[in-house]
Amino acid sequence: MAIQRPKGTQDHLPDGSPKLSTDIRASAFRHVTETAQRVLERAGAQFISTPLFEEADLVKRGVGGSTDIVRKEMFTVYYFGDHGGFILRPEGTAGIVRAYLQNGLKQLPAPLKLWTHGPMFRAENVQKGRLRQFHQVDYEVLGSADALVDAEAVALMVDVVRELGLKNVRVKLGSIGDPDDRETYNTYLRDLFSPHLERLSDDSKDRLTRNPMRILDSKSAEDQHLLTELKVRPMLDFLGPEAAAHFGQLQGYLKDWNIEFDVDPSIVRGLDYYRRTAWELHHEGVGAKSALGGGGRYDGLSEQLGGPVVPGIGWAFGIERLLLALEAEGVSLPAPRGPLLYLAALDEENVPYAATLARKAQAFIRAEFAYRAMKPGSAFKDAERRGAVWAGLIGSEEAANGTLSLKNMQSGEQKVVRVEELRELQ
Ligand code: AMP
Repeated sequence: MAIQRPKGTQDHLPDGSPKLSTDIRASAFRHVTETAQRVLERAGAQFISTPLFEEADLVKRGVGGSTDIVRKEMFTVYYFGDHGGFILRPEGTAGIVRAYLQNGLKQLPAPLKLWTHGPMFRAENVQKGRLRQFHQVDYEVLGSADALVDAEAVALMVDVVRELGLKNVRVKLGSIGDPDDRETYNTYLRDLFSPHLERLSDDSKDRLTRNPMRILDSKSAEDQHLLTELKVRPMLDFLGPEAAAHFGQLQGYLKDWNIEFDVDPSIVRGLDYYRRTAWELHHEGVGAKSALGGGGRYDGLSEQLGGPVVPGIGWAFGIERLLLALEAEGVSLPAPRGPLLYLAALDEENVPYAATLARKAQAFIRAEFAYRAMKPGSAFKDAERRGAVWAGLIGSEEAANGTLSLKNMQSGEQKVVRVEELRELQ
């Protein structure tokens, strides 16, 4: 058996590949990133790109020591003479905030809107919609804590999925308050869970000391059972007046803009530096437990990384999950595009001429040529297989008088054009 790709990874394949499904069609991926680019750049976001691997410490501090990502899912990079000081990035935010601090981007007009897309790596249990190398589109805004920035961030995430054609998307919106509010909430959770310690999963026993809020995120059935039984009050009940006002403003702006959302008290992002707004984007096509994407405000992250105070907010969605949602809704993606013009020479001596013509046409239109001489029948068949719109045959006569007889592969229309007219071809 030939070598296979690693478990939990995918090849993104060209159109027409025999084993193609939507979530591995390279052109579908590009359609998502191009759509995101259009929407986000219209709103003033600039593209940023950071390394695929970063200092382990950045990831630990940036994602949080109590998260599953850091505790169980990090891919460590080893190379000769090194002892694993680098990590393949599991998400985009930490690297972007690091780049912002390291490169003095604070000097640019604030708030600074950035976006990126690319692969992320987590050593997860592989299942549908859960990969070890997956891809995200990521939007981050640095330098403002205004609720208007939060509203725009949520709205832009919805704009991207709407522009892609998705309809059945729900925004679940929450707030996790300010650090003091969370401290009060964590004390409440500790008091609530401590008498039931033995019923918590091992992970959650650990979470109880490190960061009790993460228990609410637990995937374990026994934990979920206990949560229901204890009727745990939501974080939203513990918001202080400032966080509550911020959350109210955010909802007001979203309503003004007709962005639908449900306030969902179960949304928790329990990291130290997360603050206030947190949300998820859900779609029934990818399953109730799996979000299409999520976002949150992280005003404490810059300080966590050793920088000054820089409020920030960001979101990411998984491209693979988005493609599954598009498939579930039957949204049609752009059709494969063949060449506009396919040129073939009828005899060997005219092959270089056909090639030169096609190369000239490539300056203006999608043009391909046959690398060897062909009979008319097989040239047309080849043009059709490649999805060409126009096929042109070149014999000695055409080469001598600078004209081309073209056939439209869809309508059958035939016409003779001069070489100079090729750039007007449609
Ligand atoms: P997170 O950074 O965990 O909030 O994830 C943001 C989004 O990335 C999720 O909502 C998913 O769409 C996607 N995502 C996260 N982990 C995976 C994974 N292992 N496989 C595929 N997509 C993922």
